[in-house]
Amino acid sequence: MRPLTVCAPLQVEARALRRGLRAANIPDSQVRVVRTGYGPARAAVSAASIAASASVADSQPGLAQSGLAQSGLAQSGLAQPGPGMLAVGGVAGALSADLGVGDVVVASRVSDGSVTVECGSAPLLAGELRRAGLRVKTGPIVTVDRLVRQGEHATLAATGAIAVDMESAPLLTAAAGGPAVVIRAISDSPGHPIVSPRTVSGGIAALRSLRQAAPALARWADAVGPRKVLLASPRSFCAGVERAIEIVELALEQYGAPVYVRKQIVHNATVVADLERAGAIFVDELSEVPDGANVVFSAHGVSPEVREEAARRKLATVDATCPLVAKVHAEARRFAADGYLVALIGHAGHEEVEGTLGEAPASMALVESVADVSRLQPADSGKVAYLMQTTLAADEASSIADAIADRFPAATGPGSDDICYATTNRQRAVRAIAAESDLVLVAGSANSSNSLRLVETAERAGTKAYLVDGPEDIQLGWLAGVSTVGIAAGASAPPAIVGQIVAALGGLGEVETKDVVVATETVQFGLPKELRQRPGN
Ligand code: SF4
Repeated sequence: MRPLTVCAPLQVEARALRRGLRAANIPDSQVRVVRTGYGPARAAVSAASIAASASVADSQPGLAQSGLAQSGLAQSGLAQPGPGMLAVGGVAGALSADLGVGDVVVASRVSDGSVTVECGSAPLLAGELRRAGLRVKTGPIVTVDRLVRQGEHATLAATGAIAVDMESAPLLTAAAGGPAVVIRAISDSPGHPIVSPRTVSGGIAALRSLRQAAPALARWADAVGPRKVLLASPRSFCAGVERAIEIVELALEQYGAPVYVRKQIVHNATVVADLERAGAIFVDELSEVPDGANVVFSAHGVSPEVREEAARRKLATVDATCPLVAKVHAEARRFAADGYLVALIGHAGHEEVEGTLGEAPASMALVESVADVSRLQPADSGKVAYLMQTTLAADEASSIADAIADRFPAATGPGSDDICYATTNRQRAVRAIAAESDLVLVAGSANSSNSLRLVETAERAGTKAYLVDGPEDIQLGWLAGVSTVGIAAGASAPPAIVGQIVAALGGLGEVETKDVVVATETVQFGLPKELRQRPGN
């Protein structure tokens, strides 16, 4: 594979990038920094030369290495440029008020009005740079043909661009549609113009960031390549999560903001952030809810103690507990009322487990492992029952259930499976893709039990797997040499996240996607009566 070409318009920018690469021991044979000249006209000439040189390198390696390729072959017609990979690195002016000098912009799109280039892998590189300790923002960059004057920033910002430069758009034509990235470190902003007493300090801060960012370009280049993407299906939202989100949205519509939600409505950072923007306030305990406010109980359920506290305080509540979690609560109450010791197979500290245990604290015991089974002390060994958290790994939970049955042969289980249909289907789907993938990415948040179980399920199938909240969590190193990526998503992960991951992988090269379907889901749950009463619902 030919080296990554990094275009740096100015000598100081090229020097900063080379220093950063050298400090990370990245050889020129892997990443080649080319000074391309100041302004759009020089950038266009350099881009044509780079594209022709790359094309000759592919067809006649000896000639390209001699340096002849860069000395006029671009115009010779000897070779036509094909798609390549390209990076642009340099400094830029900020258009967005939340960018300061030294911050790094990774372009999601670059345009000069006539050329527009999408940089799909921007979130991947942005995440890598954040992990390297840089302050990073992703967004469009606009390329202009002269220095921006005072007062012109607002007009450019109105195009949606967050930063401005003078070379990126023409330089990106050298990629000819191949994978491309642009990193620009901010040297000036509307409040800190390019010609000001702070010009030097702004430039130094930007070049320092550029140097620090350079090694990530090598990792980006290593991750470039065409890929097959296997999409586990079913994936993303289950019926319980859809219902819970709809309940908060309808409560906001019906009661107006703010609506309080006890605990995260579902365990997903994107869902929570979206609802917060709409006016929801998430609290850990009812003590944080003011008198007279409206409160939604999350999909994971609450204990009777919480309901009693809400009633005592006369809070208006709407219950978003998933009906399948409510079913486990009902089983716990029934077994406890019949004099059973109820072993709840689940994970300590999970909200669903806390809520279920709260149904009959004196008659229930949490069992997290086979070893915990030996610690069960029923008053009557003929009266032991077991229940399960809805989001467990089926194979793990059944080995614990077997251990309970071995020790207490008369033990009785739930009437129907506690591990819900959505958990079971997503685990089957991830097993199906793991078998054919080099790597599995599971969309979901770190506190999502069912998403974590998907990672474990893929790993048990012998495939490396990682949990990611979005494309920015994907480490470029995971993708190097990987030709088939499996993507699954936990029941609380929005479907859009999967689309964003696929788009980001598409920015690294051609992607061929295939849905691997193991089940079709048609489950739907009705809304609570408080919200059903609204006309139209
Ligand atoms: S994962 Fe299962 S139990 Fe949890 S909300 Fe979804 S359907 Fe309900």
